[in-house]
Amino acid sequence: MTVLERARELTEAGAGIGLWPNALRALDEIGLADAMESIGAPFSATVIQTRDGRRLSGFDPARVVSRLGRQPIIAHRADVQSVLLGAAADIPIRLGTAVTAVKPTPQDAVTVVTADGAEIEAGLVVGADGVNSAVRASFDGSPPTVSPLLSWRAVVAGGPEIGDAWLSIGAGHQFLATPLPGRRAYFAGLLGPRGGHTAAPELESLRRAYSGWHDPIPELLALIETTTVRWDEVRHRRAGRTTAGGNVVLIGDAAHPMTPDLGQGGCQAIEDAVTLAAALRYGDEPLARFTEFDVGESAGSSTTHGASAGCSLREPPSSLRSETLLCRPSRNPSVFIRSPPSPA
Ligand SMILES: Cc1cc2nc3c(=O)[nH]c(=O)nc-3n(C[C@H](O)[C@H](O)[C@H](O)COP(=O)(O)OP(=O)(O)OC[C@H]3O[C@@H](n4cnc5c(N)ncnc54)[C@H](O)[C@@H]3O)c2cc1C
Repeated sequence: MTVLERARELTEAGAGIGLWPNALRALDEIGLADAMESIGAPFSATVIQTRDGRRLSGFDPARVVSRLGRQPIIAHRADVQSVLLGAAADIPIRLGTAVTAVKPTPQDAVTVVTADGAEIEAGLVVGADGVNSAVRASFDGSPPTVSPLLSWRAVVAGGPEIGDAWLSIGAGHQFLATPLPGRRAYFAGLLGPRGGHTAAPELESLRRAYSGWHDPIPELLALIETTTVRWDEVRHRRAGRTTAGGNVVLIGDAAHPMTPDLGQGGCQAIEDAVTLAAALRYGDEPLARFTEFDVGESAGSSTTHGASAGCSLREPPSSLRSETLLCRPSRNPSVFIRSPPSPA
């Protein structure tokens, strides 16, 4: 196996990320849950409040633990990346290699074309290249939908201590604050269409959008520097095809991009990867078993919530011992991966 990665170097890859029981259960399958838990902080009780600080509701992780048996965590993405890279140390990664297309070959293989014109033949291509997937574009020309929302995130070290996490909402915007291990804090939010942001947002857009919000938001915004804030357009798509021709498969955001406020896109990318790896060990027709499932369509939703290819394995491989790998409640029970029958 070879990983082709467009980035020239593996840098810190964002800010914080919440890892929920479905991701931790999947990581357990490949022996990485303990390492991941060791770099994260337990996701604390979270108050959801208005922009002037009035409590609307709250989220108690103890309920998640009692229902799903695992404590969700929040971690710095750089630390998550180093756990994953450490476990994949023997897999070659070709940095600075952007894939531009994949195309079938007459020999029932697939050719990967890269930006420098190289062609690499493969038996199986896994498109894990995110919401703007070049692998998807090779067989599905429909572009993702660009939302009018703009997401931002930042990690700040040495600021005021964030006790329990909180999410404040108002005027179409959201502001999330959570503690991270190592006296760091993770801040993230969405700016709504009325945020006055431009195509090239600046720190000033943030300060303007949250002007007059409750304490300590002004103090926190003062700590965030232009260099530490990361902006992303919010893109999504209706669930669509996740395989092409039997030897191309999409996972993660390439298959089912998730909006940031769901806090599940990374978790489901992990779940997909672990499930696909298990399917590949399972039998003669691995991709036939990694079947498509379109929650977005069946639920009549216009978004992409949970249309995870990895959730749809109908005959779970024996290596997946979890009673239920996926935590997301669903109207359609077929998206749960259930225990394989006990060996005779
Ligand atoms: C503000 C914010 C907060 C979020 N919070 C959470 C959270 O708390 N929990 C959670 O689970 N999810 C969260 N998400 C969602 C999560 O970040 C994504 O769903 C997740 O990163 C998707 O992973 P992926 O591997 O599929 O794609 P990506 O993370 O986009 O990775 C794609 C990789 O492919 C590479 N690549 C892209 N194109 C090419 C190409 N043509 N050739 C070669 N390489 C290429 C990229 O460089 C990148 O390394 C959040 C997202 C945002 C924006």
